[in-house]
Amino acid sequence: MPGEFHEHDVSFGPFKTEHHTRTVDARFRTAFIAFVRDRILPLVEGSFTRVEGKLYSNYDDPKYFGPLSVVRFRYFFELAFHSPDGMEAARGHLDYNSGAATFSEVPRQPPHVYSLSLQRRRKYVGEKIIEIAKRYREGERDMVCPICGSLISVLYLEKRDFIEGIHCQTKGCIAERFN
Ligand SMILES: [Zn+2]
Repeated sequence: MPGEFHEHDVSFGPFKTEHHTRTVDARFRTAFIAFVRDRILPLVEGSFTRVEGKLYSNYDDPKYFGPLSVVRFRYFFELAFHSPDGMEAARGHLDYNSGAATFSEVPRQPPHVYSLSLQRRRKYVGEKIIEIAKRYREGERDMVCPICGSLISVLYLEKRDFIEGIHCQTKGCIAERFN
């Protein structure tokens, strides 16, 4: 059950340029809050009680504002949703359409929420990787992926007595390299 999310949870800017200062107006802020409610909140799993967020631009300089610029209206956001079960971080790049006051996602860079279940899964995978390495050292071979059950490949450097990587061969559930 998501909690409440409001405009005052986010700090916008500050911006150095007039362009961004002017663009990020009340309409912009309302549109951003609507975007987060539509696209981000459904991915947050905890019943959050507090949100901290910021929206800024990495292109806050007139040199990025040329007529062919694709980053002129590009913004970045980071949000932290705090709930009794932990913190879920959301981040992403967005392009603002000032005519329609809408946001669109940057192609191939969709916003990401590091949800409670993703955190649990990463922790689980991390524990399994340690276990697989240990079992390999104890002589076990032909181990299977704890997630999908297909074969695991272990890259072992005999000369250095070093496990270089552990991979799920078929689905890539585990892809760990040690250096
Ligand atoms: Zn797998």
